[in-house]
Amino acid sequence: MKILVINSGSSSIKYQLFNMEDESVLAKGVVERIGIDDSFISYENGNGQEITIEKDISDHKEGIRLLIDTLLNEDYGVLNDMDDVEAVGHRVVHGAEEFSGSVLIDDKLVKTMEDVADLAPLHNPPNIMGIKVCQELMPDKPQVGVFDTAFHQTMPEKAYIYALPYEFYKKYGVRRYGFHGTSHGYVSKRAAELLDKPYSELKIITCHLGNGASVAAVKNGKSVDTSMGLTPLEGLVMGTRCGDIDPAIVPFMMNKLDISAEEMDTIMNKESGLYGVSGVSNDSRDVEDAAAEGNHQAEVALELFDYRVKKYIGAYTAAMGGVDAIVFTAGIGENSIDSRENILEGLEYLGLKVDKEANNCRSKEQIITTEDSRVKALVVPTNEELVIARDTMEIVSS
Ligand code: AMP
Repeated sequence: MKILVINSGSSSIKYQLFNMEDESVLAKGVVERIGIDDSFISYENGNGQEITIEKDISDHKEGIRLLIDTLLNEDYGVLNDMDDVEAVGHRVVHGAEEFSGSVLIDDKLVKTMEDVADLAPLHNPPNIMGIKVCQELMPDKPQVGVFDTAFHQTMPEKAYIYALPYEFYKKYGVRRYGFHGTSHGYVSKRAAELLDKPYSELKIITCHLGNGASVAAVKNGKSVDTSMGLTPLEGLVMGTRCGDIDPAIVPFMMNKLDISAEEMDTIMNKESGLYGVSGVSNDSRDVEDAAAEGNHQAEVALELFDYRVKKYIGAYTAAMGGVDAIVFTAGIGENSIDSRENILEGLEYLGLKVDKEANNCRSKEQIITTEDSRVKALVVPTNEELVIARDTMEIVSS
């Protein structure tokens, strides 16, 4: 069975084609700069053949048409016929309370997704656009929606209600939803497998540390808390997002700078985090380089990033009444040896001992604590596309 996975953003479409017999990736790539100058598609097939086609791509429909043509191309394609593809799985950022698992998409569900789109105005509309275009271009193929929020729908009320007037929640859906759910679900389950322990009996803290970053507390296989909230802005310091701040700063700075709510929102989402504090970059590698050269703001930005993760680990250990494993994933979690070491430093009181040699690794599954460490720490590369493909296969098979 072959499954196409689509992650449709506002100006790009990431895609992967899976052969589910062995879960191998037959082809993958990105359609970039849709509707902007210099648009192109990059494509790589399982034989390592890479191509880039520069072409005007004015909208998502053209983009998806081009990616289908690429998959079918006589020279470098991997399909003879689109009939070989069983179904299409879509990443959808916000599922609100309506979606606590992956679903087979019909017109009614598209409408429900549109109804909750105001909770994620930047992400959901392009996700829905991708779904609609695929429905139009491949009308005979089942389309499945996999939601970033779904895994966290098991959070108890005390973890998701904000201490604001209760009708904010009832009337407007203002509550904590959490994101990166497919990643937290995948790496926590994988950590249980690597530790050879039952998933349903473990307390796991998963740290998804990328340009967007979040932590989750996964108790007995269920998310009981996570650091992102109504939107992905809450929680950790991120590439360009501020994470937790005193909410009173918002009106205070709006008055000082005489700016609108939208402008303040942009500052907190796009001009803060590692970028805002360091003044260098949102990319942790650039910030690490600047810090190594003695740039004070860059040093502070990195310390702040690691310190915030450490605080969440403490909080979630308390929330779960202990912790068995701490998992690192995504760009920084998988690659930054220093970040992992700084985050775990001082957690000996929990019964955690870092194995520095084992921690000297990038992008591979690895236990990074010593044999006798009671609490384990692991690196587990995330694979959100595979989760989407697996969910899609499960839904269409049943
Ligand atoms: P992601 O959003 O998961 O793609 O992660 C992006 C972040 O991961 C950026 O801040 C990158 O600097 C960081 N990252 C990616 N590769 C590395 C690496 N080899 N070493 C350190 N950080 C990395």
